[in-house]
Amino acid sequence: MSNETSSRRPKAPRTSIGNHQLSPATLMMGHGFDPALSEGSLKPPIFLTSTFVFEKAADGKKFFEGITGRRPGGGDGLVYSRFNGPNQEILEDRLRLWEDGEAALSFSSGMSAIATLLFTFVRPGDVIVHSGPLYAATETFIAKILSQFGVTYVDFPAGATREEIDTALTKAKGQTTNGGRVALIYLESPANPTNALVDVEAVAASRAAAFSGGDAPPIAIDNTFLGPLWARPIEQGADISVYSLTKYAGGHSDLVAGGLVGDKALLDRVRTMRNTIGTICDPNTAWMLLRSLETLELRMSRAGENAVKVCDFLKDHPKVEKVGYLGFLDPGSRQADIFSRHCSGAGSTFSLYLKGGEKEAFAFLDALQIAHLAVSLGGTETLASAPAAMTHLSVPDERKAALGISDNLVRISIGVEDADDLIADFANALNAV
Ligand SMILES: *Cc1c(COP(=O)(O)O)cnc(C)c1O
Repeated sequence: MSNETSSRRPKAPRTSIGNHQLSPATLMMGHGFDPALSEGSLKPPIFLTSTFVFEKAADGKKFFEGITGRRPGGGDGLVYSRFNGPNQEILEDRLRLWEDGEAALSFSSGMSAIATLLFTFVRPGDVIVHSGPLYAATETFIAKILSQFGVTYVDFPAGATREEIDTALTKAKGQTTNGGRVALIYLESPANPTNALVDVEAVAASRAAAFSGGDAPPIAIDNTFLGPLWARPIEQGADISVYSLTKYAGGHSDLVAGGLVGDKALLDRVRTMRNTIGTICDPNTAWMLLRSLETLELRMSRAGENAVKVCDFLKDHPKVEKVGYLGFLDPGSRQADIFSRHCSGAGSTFSLYLKGGEKEAFAFLDALQIAHLAVSLGGTETLASAPAAMTHLSVPDERKAALGISDNLVRISIGVEDADDLIADFANALNAV
């Protein structure tokens, strides 16, 4: 039922009252932590220790069997802080609830989660199939780093149809070398900054048609932009949901962390890799994330409501060419169909295309007074940046053009401020253009 593993924590935490199933928003306040084990402390202490004492030598042996993977399923008890710790285990127990995943793992950053995941599943000769574009560092890791180990990739555009996904899988099967396999299907939805949604159901159906049983590659999906409130891709057939917890989950722009949620057997393999290379989240950051998760639903709901209001204001403004926001998909379009099947909200991160070019975009950014000029997203404060000049500066010109990363594009992540104040700020900045 869960990955509760520590002998120091409750074995059967309450997740329902009678037949009434408790929601994640409620469970974030106490799930996975027993005050009686920590001097009655209402909140979990931060466990700053590098190692844990065994009661008996036999316990040490048993715990190590779990840690080293000799016995599947992870550790039964705490051993050493590169492997696990109370704060990280409580965090993982709570994180998995949001997507009803079987298990979760925490990491020192979104990228260390992604790198550990990829290292777990690929071997020389293997092929990764992925949607595009991906977060830039993920693309770099696959194309520039894994290629040094004989791993290649096949990509398809994020909005691809079932037929295009089938074609990519067929191509990938033909591209394996030296007994390699199609090792992993890796998705990111919505893509940044195109906002194109991936049809996860179509990817899962395509995999089922292309592979029989044991050789089917896992499907992992970067759910940082919409998860866990507005998208739950495990319900559409993904095996692992990937998070930069730095963004909405952390939510206060004051920490860097990553997470994986999903299939326990797959995550046990990733856990063994994490134990080896030490990419786990530290106890202090895990504790901060526990605090963040208590307000996750409040923060994301408010940010989402704010984004609806701000985008409604921006879309008809005379200085605005277009607003790329998931709430404005053309009814009847393929993207709108995916949205209705996969998403429960349009998020709070979107693309604003101003009339003009870099000059206009910079004038707008420089005139903002509430929104901060910074990259990243998902924090309590509104952020704005110019991808062409900042996050995507080194992307070649033709690829920029193909992805719609033009000089007049401003990326905005709406926070939890008062919506009317934000609209006043954007109105004022547009006047300055
Ligand atoms: C930020 C981000 C990452 C990387 O996460 P870090 O916590 O910065 O390592 C990965 N994917 C997406 C979609 C992101 O926005």
